[in-house]
Amino acid sequence: MATVSPVAALPKIKHTQCFIGGRWVDSLSGKTFETVNPATEEVIATVAEGDAADVDVAAKAARDAFESGEWRKMSARERGRLLYRLADLIEENQEYLAALESLDNGKPIRDSRAADLPLTIQCLRYYAGYADKIHGYTIPIDGNFLCYTRKVPTGVVGQIIPWNFPMLMTAWKWGPALTAGCTIVMKPAEQTPLTCLAMAALAQEAGFPDGVINVVPGFGPTAGAAVVRHPLIDKIAFTGEHRTAQIIMRDASETLKRLTFELGGKSPNIVFDDCDLDAAVDGAHFGLYFNQGQCCCAGSRLFVHEAIHDKFVDRLVAKNQVRRLGNPLDPATEQGPQVDQAQYDKIMSFVDKGKSEGARCLTGGERFGDRGFFVQPTLFEGVTDQMSIASDEIFGPVLSVLKFRDMNDLIRRANNTMYGLAAAVWTRDIKKAHYVAEQVRAGTVWVNCYNVFDAAAPFGGFKMSGSGRELGEDGLKPYLETKTVTMSLG
Ligand code: ADP
Repeated sequence: MATVSPVAALPKIKHTQCFIGGRWVDSLSGKTFETVNPATEEVIATVAEGDAADVDVAAKAARDAFESGEWRKMSARERGRLLYRLADLIEENQEYLAALESLDNGKPIRDSRAADLPLTIQCLRYYAGYADKIHGYTIPIDGNFLCYTRKVPTGVVGQIIPWNFPMLMTAWKWGPALTAGCTIVMKPAEQTPLTCLAMAALAQEAGFPDGVINVVPGFGPTAGAAVVRHPLIDKIAFTGEHRTAQIIMRDASETLKRLTFELGGKSPNIVFDDCDLDAAVDGAHFGLYFNQGQCCCAGSRLFVHEAIHDKFVDRLVAKNQVRRLGNPLDPATEQGPQVDQAQYDKIMSFVDKGKSEGARCLTGGERFGDRGFFVQPTLFEGVTDQMSIASDEIFGPVLSVLKFRDMNDLIRRANNTMYGLAAAVWTRDIKKAHYVAEQVRAGTVWVNCYNVFDAAAPFGGFKMSGSGRELGEDGLKPYLETKTVTMSLG
């Protein structure tokens, strides 16, 4: 007899203040904002609304922690040990954190448990292991000199993250920064501040010195912009929309901050007629609908070879018809709500555009239920390259299926976008797979798989999808400066 897993218990909210210099404090203005349960539209908690004044205190705390005291003198191995300890504490609290993530973001608890938590822990452990392996080299320059390089931390880093993977984005930012010896001013997304604050509490319990990690919840144009402009902050690591990155680039120019960006995408997912059909159908579905379509690397342009197009679409339609939408805390739920009303409205406006531009909506296109920001899994066929649903990032459960015949024409179409974050190809022909992987301009190419992430594998975009890479050794580089020391031996 099948056992029915119980619905996860509602997690208790423990931290809603700013975390600055090792203390939990209200915002200096006393202002708060509400974070909402996207499945019910009810307020979960009110959270301190940080602004420029709070960012200023946080930046000074981070600067002090960087310049003096325990953090600077700490051995690299000890920094690594703290990161391992943080990962262990997250693991010990993973059921609580998974429920908190699902409550605040709306993602199904099965995904928080299977993806967000394990990947968060893996990322912190991966970078923990790096702490005592960061070193420079000696260089045989002309003359009687000893010349060597050292890799030193970039300094105080401002980190601004979105709401689609709140814990995981926190780990992607904290892991490399902390192992390198940087200190942090973090601004979580206003929609989902709770798990980042919970992670700050666990970091304190792990023993990170005061001021090494500071978290200022608040809004982008106020708290976020203050982080970007602050003269005591050396670098910004940002994940979000390319339009926000353009504002950040302008705002950061005054203090010439180092910048790394991980931005949006309109990733081509390419299915040839010689693919393993079952695997490709599952991969195309997962590649778009995972996380309610709220993934920067979502395979939102599905190119299917004309020879298998119709049966492929039929299979996707059948999957959408049985997809279980509902309470994110129920382990049976496969799709939760979108994160907020603004995202819901944006997605629905794209659905309307898709219909008016002549694409055929085969499933969804409507709200699910009567409360919460649920959008039915939506599939458009007959999509052409010029339609807005084929060119703009929708960030929702809306799949656009496009037909192709010729491979070289397909490559041109796949690359005909301002984005270049990810791509995938499904084929049994290894030459074809390599050819597409070579030709497509994207930071990540998956072959016969989709959404395969690992802390050791770099991730980031070409073109308007970003600059720099996160994860792997590449992800550590932006948190290190090279110092060249030349010593006369004459
Ligand atoms: P999304 O549309 O997915 O919310 P955004 O790029 O608007 O993407 O938001 C990502 C993060 O950037 C959030 O933490 C948000 O508060 C922050 N943000 C938004 N505007 C600015 C800004 N002008 N300066 C700095 N951060 C910002």
